[in-house]
Amino acid sequence: MAYQTINPYTNEVVKEYPDATDQQLEEALQTGKDLYEEFKTQAVKERGKILHNVAAKIREKSDELARTCTIEMGKLLTEAQGEVELCAVIADWFADHGEEMLKPEEIETIAHGKAEIQHHATGVLMMVEPWNFPYYQIMRVFAPNFMVGNPMILKHASNTPSSAQMMANVISEAGAPKGSLTNLFLSYDQVTEAIGDSRVQGVALTGSERGGESVASAAGKNLKKTTMELGGMDPFLVLDDANMDDVIDIAWRSRLYNAGQECTSSKRFIVMEDVYDEFVERLKENFSKVKPGDPLDPKTTLAPMNSKKAKEDLQDQVDEAVQAGAKVVYGNEPIDLPGQFFMPTILTDIDRDNPAHTTEMFGPVGVVYKVATEKEAIELANDSSYGLGGVVFAGDSDHGAEVAAQIETGMVFVNSFRYSLPELPFGGVKRSGYGREMSRLGQMAFVNEKLILKADKPDMNNLAGGLVATDPE
Ligand code: NAP
Repeated sequence: MAYQTINPYTNEVVKEYPDATDQQLEEALQTGKDLYEEFKTQAVKERGKILHNVAAKIREKSDELARTCTIEMGKLLTEAQGEVELCAVIADWFADHGEEMLKPEEIETIAHGKAEIQHHATGVLMMVEPWNFPYYQIMRVFAPNFMVGNPMILKHASNTPSSAQMMANVISEAGAPKGSLTNLFLSYDQVTEAIGDSRVQGVALTGSERGGESVASAAGKNLKKTTMELGGMDPFLVLDDANMDDVIDIAWRSRLYNAGQECTSSKRFIVMEDVYDEFVERLKENFSKVKPGDPLDPKTTLAPMNSKKAKEDLQDQVDEAVQAGAKVVYGNEPIDLPGQFFMPTILTDIDRDNPAHTTEMFGPVGVVYKVATEKEAIELANDSSYGLGGVVFAGDSDHGAEVAAQIETGMVFVNSFRYSLPELPFGGVKRSGYGREMSRLGQMAFVNEKLILKADKPDMNNLAGGLVATDPE
């Protein structure tokens, strides 16, 4: 069976799930289509009430949700609790603001009549999500699209089936009608089949470039709209006048949060030479303080990685980087525990032809570069095929924002930790994908922005500058 819960702390197989049948997929597509028709006649406000109930149900079940995801993919229980609460915050926000955002917008026009854009649902969505934030990734797509009235079919990662099913159950128990979110243990072929089905009108994927390319090309072939939230190698710039206490307080968290398995994790530290030695020394100090152990134990501060394969892949990447000349300043030693732990590691002296310069390392490995000028820092930040997020630390936040504006990514945080909140758009450019989730932009991702122009009768004296056929005689 492809879908399994394996606890990466104990390596125990906790649960296996049978693959979805073609009949289950067909039923989900039809249930979704029927619900789409039903949603068309339901006021958005009604779905807002249900979405508030979803938030309440998430809070009611928060302990169970958090524990399930910790056991399934290894994240620290405290981080899992934070993720669960964030899902409730997202649901509440779209429940509160969705109706307003979806109201018709009037357009000024020289045409005769009154023109407006209405925001309508488009149909069933196929949602493909990764394991690293197993609930939050679902909620980023579910909350706005439930408000619009787009039913969803979820294909979650094969290593987080329990979390996927639990969130689907919570949504259903909160009163969302059948078909609002159907979780299925689909194969890649079944996902492709669903994308080709006329009842599916959009595809949202969060994951790797490999997964994104495959799903986006199936969608392209079928002319289906997509949003792609893909990988990142986010830069973290430290300018020479930055407050180093703040920098250090944020830097280690920004790399080790979720055991470094985060798309917007600060994977490349780009540090001005005046403060480079201090930065490396203090980052090392903080990396050395984390304590590996049972992620359910609140005293543990370093979680295992999500799977044996993830750990092995990361080790291969670090080995290749070292072979290509990288210097290990800290870490890269085995941790004597049965779980899939990877010791936090700092690499320096990365040349531009080192694979570590161009390949995303999805775990607790920080790469530190030394630069002589701000111009060099910006060039290095932009020397990446990815463009997701980034952080800039500067003595003057206005100057930091000027630097941030020159970084080719979708989000940059100045003198701050990286926030992910429903009112802030989330997404990237370049090979980090396209489209945005969350905020008003995420609300509109799969909306039919429909023009309606309304007049009592045609005005034959106002034919918009002759843009329509004139009388035949
Ligand atoms: P992945 O392999 O692409 O998996 C993500 C999801 O896509 C899983 O459900 C996976 O299913 C599915 N998938 C992969 N290939 C597919 C195909 N050909 N057809 C249908 N479904 C397919 O990604 P990952 O490596 O596990 O996740 C980590 C990546 O996600 C990193 O690159 C990270 O940066 C990125 N990420 C991006 C964001 C963002 O918002 N930009 C957020 C989090 C993570 P299986 O599990 O069954 O393979």
